[in-house]
Amino acid sequence: MHRRTFLASSSAAIVAGALHDWPLLAQAKPQTKFSELRNGTGTFTGRGGTIGWLVTDEGAVVVDSQFPGTAEACLEGIKNRSRRGIHVLINTHHHGDHTAGNKIFRPAAKFIVAHANSAEWQRMVAEQAKAGAEQAYPDQTFPNVWQLKIGGERVTATYYGFAHTSGDVAVAFESANVVHMGDLVFNRFHPYIDREAGASIANWITVLDRVPREHNAETTYIFGHGKDGAVTGNRADLARFRDYLTALLDYTKKQIAAGKSREAITKVTALRGFEEYEAPDPPDVSLATALGTAYDELTGA
Ligand SMILES: [Zn+2]
Repeated sequence: MHRRTFLASSSAAIVAGALHDWPLLAQAKPQTKFSELRNGTGTFTGRGGTIGWLVTDEGAVVVDSQFPGTAEACLEGIKNRSRRGIHVLINTHHHGDHTAGNKIFRPAAKFIVAHANSAEWQRMVAEQAKAGAEQAYPDQTFPNVWQLKIGGERVTATYYGFAHTSGDVAVAFESANVVHMGDLVFNRFHPYIDREAGASIANWITVLDRVPREHNAETTYIFGHGKDGAVTGNRADLARFRDYLTALLDYTKKQIAAGKSREAITKVTALRGFEEYEAPDPPDVSLATALGTAYDELTGA
């Protein structure tokens, strides 16, 4: 989801005890679950961003890789489902809870692909955290659109510009009519907005308008994170999150115009009309951090 999660995934951070809440979680065996969607697609949930998958008679496609522990469980399950192994692992973006498991898939997948910015951020953040040895980087990157035909399915990864980071893609399984949104959707969770890595709330809103126009009313969307395990949904859920981001930006804009300070603005505990939004796990993402980032974006801080 974000940099702190990324750091927590590196053994250096755990040894340093910098993040006291994570080592316990890292040792505990998290619950993992495979769910089927349609036409050979499905989700895998464990710890971190939801993994999406497609199994065909020409091999499997995996979208995102969580952390090493749950990636192992996912890899085992995919191998059992796919007699032709894994063709490709796609990363929706660079955050550690979507890429730290890459090294587990590395020996099994023919290649790893991501947006060029995602690959660059993964490398930069890992080098900063001295966690380069724990990474498996994409072997292929692309600037706009990447496509693959496999087993009668067409897989399309599309870049829509700055949003949750500067390197997010949505991955569509076109025949199945299933689209993995990565962290472009936090379903009823306050979002992490990675301004350091080029996030833009204003453009994120337009991305959430554009994506459903390229699909239809029956499209099933997979979300990077969702409250109460709701990691899939439809275009109404995308619209709901778009409206949340719009309300976040509008509220902050009005408060700035009224002369309120960043500190005062981030003290509000609920966004009117969006009271069902909660802090995700880890809980260092909250309405306050989202409002703070909106403030920074609007003031150019
Ligand atoms: Zn993320």
